[in-house]
Amino acid sequence: MGRVEADERELDFARRDLVAYGVRMLEDGLAVGTAGNLSVRVGDVVAISPSGILYREIAPEDVCVVSLDGQKLSGKATVSSEWPMHSGIYRSTDARAVVHTHSAEVVALSLSQSELPAVHYVIAGLGGPVPVVDYVRFGSDGLADGAISVMASRNAAILQNHGAVTRGATLQQAYERALLLEWLAKVYRLSLGYGDPRILTADELAEVEAEVRRRRYGGPALEDGAR
Ligand SMILES: [Zn+2]
Repeated sequence: MGRVEADERELDFARRDLVAYGVRMLEDGLAVGTAGNLSVRVGDVVAISPSGILYREIAPEDVCVVSLDGQKLSGKATVSSEWPMHSGIYRSTDARAVVHTHSAEVVALSLSQSELPAVHYVIAGLGGPVPVVDYVRFGSDGLADGAISVMASRNAAILQNHGAVTRGATLQQAYERALLLEWLAKVYRLSLGYGDPRILTADELAEVEAEVRRRRYGGPALEDGAR
């Protein structure tokens, strides 16, 4: 099978995956209606969920395939309005998938906090405490720039008065990170009800990262979710 055929096959998988994970976003409460969007990079092109169609009504042929410089190559529907953010993350990192949510816990946190602090050691899987990017209008280059600046050192960013974005080596990994981020934001909110939360130090997070690396080299590779 040639490279073009292999990419076509992978794109078919990506279209079906994007439809399935869109429905999961609704079921898991990470988005409502048509909010949020997901994408997968295949070679030099990106398959991205369409704009303005309810997740349960998106068909694989609606999914848009767009070149990294923004040329739409296929797909019946309009490209997601957050294309600048998705494409910018692919151009500046090794991400193979991006998930953008409007999940309640991270949106609520973003209104008054400048970051999601290290309330639990699994935040090491996101690269450490997750900064909140200052509010900029949806679909703007400014929003993309803010997300990209965080993604240089993190697998997740929180967008003020808006939502969150995560990246991964696969759509599954990017999606699991979106769930993890939402869970961490909930833990932080709950902890504030008990008093002044103890936050993990940079040294403690570095120790967690070192231990994960040691276990990876010493035995079977640990999945992120197994930490
Ligand atoms: Zn959005």
